[in-house]
Amino acid sequence: MTRNLPVVAIIGGGFAGTALALQLAGKAGVTLFEPAPVGPGLAYGTAEPAHLLNVPAAGMSPFPDKPAHFTDWLAAQPDAPPLPAAGPRFAPRYLYGRYLQELWAAAAPAIRHVPRGVASVERAGAGFRVTDTSGEAFAVDRVVLAVGGFAATPGAPPHLAGDPWDPAALEGLAPEAPLLLVGLGLTMVDVLLALRERGHVGPVTAISRHGWLPLSHLMGVFPPPWPMALAEGEAPGVLAAFRWLRVEVARAAAAGQPWQAVIDGVRPLVQRIWRGWDSVQRRRFLRHARSAWNLHRHRLAPEAAGRIGAELATGGLRPVAARLADWRVGAQGVEAVLDRRGGGQEVLSVARIILCTGPEGGAAWREAAPVAGMLAAGLLAPDALGLGLSVSPEGVALDAAGQQVAGIDVLGPLTRGALWEITAVPDIRLQVAGLADRIDRGKYEIPACGVGLAPI
Ligand SMILES: Cc1cc2nc3c(=O)[nH]c(=O)nc-3n(C[C@H](O)[C@H](O)[C@H](O)COP(=O)(O)OP(=O)(O)OC[C@H]3O[C@@H](n4cnc5c(N)ncnc54)[C@H](O)[C@@H]3O)c2cc1C
Repeated sequence: MTRNLPVVAIIGGGFAGTALALQLAGKAGVTLFEPAPVGPGLAYGTAEPAHLLNVPAAGMSPFPDKPAHFTDWLAAQPDAPPLPAAGPRFAPRYLYGRYLQELWAAAAPAIRHVPRGVASVERAGAGFRVTDTSGEAFAVDRVVLAVGGFAATPGAPPHLAGDPWDPAALEGLAPEAPLLLVGLGLTMVDVLLALRERGHVGPVTAISRHGWLPLSHLMGVFPPPWPMALAEGEAPGVLAAFRWLRVEVARAAAAGQPWQAVIDGVRPLVQRIWRGWDSVQRRRFLRHARSAWNLHRHRLAPEAAGRIGAELATGGLRPVAARLADWRVGAQGVEAVLDRRGGGQEVLSVARIILCTGPEGGAAWREAAPVAGMLAAGLLAPDALGLGLSVSPEGVALDAAGQQVAGIDVLGPLTRGALWEITAVPDIRLQVAGLADRIDRGKYEIPACGVGLAPI
């Protein structure tokens, strides 16, 4: 038995789930499960004006075939801060969140929204039973997991904040209190800028293995991507790929182009290069080159980089290459024991430790519903490197035996084990468009699961 429209449960209404729902409206019977406001998700749910997009606005349209969709919307916003008329524009993230919410509001009448989280997903006949946190169950043909890639590490203020995006992480601090931020990437920058906006003036130490700070986009210009190409079937290993990058950076410099252009030029090839690596090469990359790659790839908006530069100049931010070895509650707050890179320990007295290791920083997502139960039931498996879930290059879930689980697809950062470069909007929107197309093309072949969207 077949039916025309497949019944699809999208779990998670951040960027990925919302973009898919928008693309599927009218092509499938969609139910979107999202307990928070639909659209912004973790990245664009911030209310802090100092939190800027780290991709120029021109790259942020959710629709690959309508690249100016977001910039046109932005131009019509009376309260948008003045952005440069020419060159790259890094808009506040809250505006992008509002944009997604407006897109959702316009499409919402055609899509069913369940404002609750999903507690479990189980097989039921040829489809699946999705149960939300109220205990209501839904029979569906397909499940799309779009739950993001981040789940906070346990730890609540006053002494340790495991979730840097929880407003409580920054509350209850004396303005002069010294703080330790664990992580030196974009999440640390978010937290530091938010603290300063709240009037926090105390010294901040931030640590990471290498002690490197994020690099920046260029102010006022966004050079065209440097032309980078691989021949059909060419698959450079880790060393060869980095050697190639260095050669191209030198060639670009000789032609007056910055290294940023080379990174942007190679970006469309990254998924292909990653897929060409076996797990030994992928491990080699993660161990030796991940930090350097992330530094060059995930760049700060120039305005944010300017503020970090000022923090360094005034000593407000002290970056240290170290690892948090231990911490204990002391008389003054927390005593943090740092193992410094290169040897030696430092004991730091701070009011609070805030974990800023970001979306790539942990594996707490494995413990979150519904992923934990699906892993236990064998419907999902972690990828070999522990980066996320085991999926095919198209995002179809693979079970522990490596077999495709027909009807379960994964979107976004949890597919990074298969694709690596799948964090930002320009990559996720292509993944979303591909899945929408597969669901649309497959609609006449999907076996009906019985009672459709009716609660069971
Ligand atoms: C702080 C930050 C800033 C970023 N800035 C940029 C940027 O400027 N430009 C860019 O291109 N990329 C940026 N990114 C990358 C960003 O990850 C992607 O752009 C995108 O937001 C990922 O979307 P997602 O839907 O996969 O995940 P999320 O946005 O995390 O959404 C996941 C959603 O799933 C929901 N959910 C979780 N569990 C359940 C459940 N059990 N049931 C129902 N719902 C559930 C959550 O409530 C959440 O709304 C940023 C990321 C972060 C973390």
